[in-house]
Amino acid sequence: MGYDPRAMKVHEYQARDLLAQFGVPVPPAIVVETGAQAGDAYRELASRYGAELVVVKAQVHAGGRGKGGGVKLVRSADEAQRVAADILAKPLVTPQTGPAGVSVRKVLIAAGVDIDKEFYVGMAIDRTNRCPVLIASSEGGIEIEQVAKDNPDAIVRVPVDPEAGLQPYQARNVAYRLGFRGDHIRQATKIMAQLCDLFIKTDASLAEINPLVVTRADSDHPQGDVLAIDAKINFDDNALIRHPDIAELADPHEQDPAERRARQFDLSYIKLDGNIGCLVNGAGLAMATMDLVNLHGGEPANFLDVGGSASEEAVTEAFRIILEDDHVRGVLVNIFGGIAKCDTIARAIVGAAKEIGFTVPLVVRLEGTNVEQARRILDDARHDIPTMQTGDDLTDAARKITAAIAA
Ligand code: GDP
Ligand code: MN
Repeated sequence: MGYDPRAMKVHEYQARDLLAQFGVPVPPAIVVETGAQAGDAYRELASRYGAELVVVKAQVHAGGRGKGGGVKLVRSADEAQRVAADILAKPLVTPQTGPAGVSVRKVLIAAGVDIDKEFYVGMAIDRTNRCPVLIASSEGGIEIEQVAKDNPDAIVRVPVDPEAGLQPYQARNVAYRLGFRGDHIRQATKIMAQLCDLFIKTDASLAEINPLVVTRADSDHPQGDVLAIDAKINFDDNALIRHPDIAELADPHEQDPAERRARQFDLSYIKLDGNIGCLVNGAGLAMATMDLVNLHGGEPANFLDVGGSASEEAVTEAFRIILEDDHVRGVLVNIFGGIAKCDTIARAIVGAAKEIGFTVPLVVRLEGTNVEQARRILDDARHDIPTMQTGDDLTDAARKITAAIAA
């Protein structure tokens, strides 16, 4: 739920481990990297837990794997091996990956369960009410965003006090409203409390169990049980400093390479779909710059905040990242020098021009600390950067860059 490109994501197998640490019942599972290992994992689950039905699950950060063929039920070690090898062999395309898909490096081999009913329970931050919120639905196994569109009445939302946590009466109330009966009410209530506990203690920004299932009754479990069989947890990356164990769970293969490089230089960079590269200092100014570009008919290619204390080296890296994006057809630099110094930016522009070259239009608007010095640096370099124009203010700069691209 919610657009949160900076959140740190983890794989399902890591999320399941965390859920288990907080007491949530999760079927046993083994992570593997080859078809042969998948066959062995099947045999182990069969001998240790009596599993016959086993689920082979692609471990990628994108959701909707079921729809893309990334979640398959198997009933023998041979089948597990074949299906896992197949999933590992090619990129997985799901409704959330884009047409090129994502490569699969690990699969989870999980004891399968006989499902009677699927539910959704999740914890998120309610930005409007400024508190954590428990979100639950009897329409499980479907993306909650889809339920919100098609059947909003099927979603229950309960605000949670971050100090007191989810109150037992709140969880019980949700369990009733979702239609849990008998002992399932107790089990579901406990799971919601554990999920909330995990969410708050790990500084998560999202923690979803989808689906939470009631299993079909059998001789061992005459009433069926409530279990988590898929989980998605995102963490607030500003809080990772408090959770080194969670920070370690990051999978560099899942990160956009440009975003990973940006992170190394402490640049806040998020790739977007447009064609105007933006280099700005300060998150607020970056947002305002993107708005102005939009207002004048342009589409930003990225959000990029170089921050206040960016070195010339970091700003040069920022230009490399922007200019390496094939979609970029123009660059807008908008700096309000407070702590950031305009001359540092100007030198980085000159450096980037020498090293990479601005073959696309460049519009620079600088204001604030050391602006006079910066203007001299850029004036001196003007003949080396023929595509450069300067903007008098943000509106002027936004107009110039959108016009230059349209030309
Ligand atoms: P997602 O598609 O990426 O959200 O992956 P899930 O792990 O949620 O699996 C998608 C769907 O596959 C679930 O909603 C279930 O309907 C089905 N599924 C997953 N695990 C099992 C299982 O152990 N048994 C059965 N019968 N179905 C499962
Ligand atoms: Mn799911």
